[in-house]
Amino acid sequence: MFKWEAVLVEGMVTQLPCIPTGCSACCRETTMPVTEAEAKRLSRRTGMQLDSFTWENNGILTLLNDEKTRACVFLLTASSDVNAEGVCSVYEVRPEGCRKYPIVLNPKDEAMLDEGCPHREHFPEPSESDAIELLNLEERLLRKQ
Ligand code: SF4
Ligand code: SF4
Repeated sequence: MFKWEAVLVEGMVTQLPCIPTGCSACCRETTMPVTEAEAKRLSRRTGMQLDSFTWENNGILTLLNDEKTRACVFLLTASSDVNAEGVCSVYEVRPEGCRKYPIVLNPKDEAMLDEGCPHREHFPEPSESDAIELLNLEERLLRKQ
């Protein structure tokens, strides 16, 4: 996932590790869900039909992986190596789940850093407001909004 963001934590700017480490691991073999509104926005922005970048995973729209690279169809990469670099081609309109990652919800609906992120120790600890944002996202996904 292409991120070039700095976050403000307790008055200090912290650089996220995605770009410095050249990581795109979370955009590979993705199971990232997208809301109906996000899918429509991506369709408008890219000119792509919904079924060329999403599939229905138990009724939830989910980003599609490219057959060759096994990465999200929006990741600019020629490699199927999970450690290869890649750039998100829809960075400005990427789904909220992509924006929040590696923050995810645990079974108790608490925000946590996902173990699938190899550089999670370089992210700030998630807050209660992260949990609320993810719960709201989950609600929109289930309501197909
Ligand atoms: S797996 Fe983690 S470090 Fe790698 S791009 Fe995703 S969020 Fe960034
Ligand atoms: S939309 Fe962009 S950030 Fe999200 S999984 Fe695809 S390439 Fe990664």
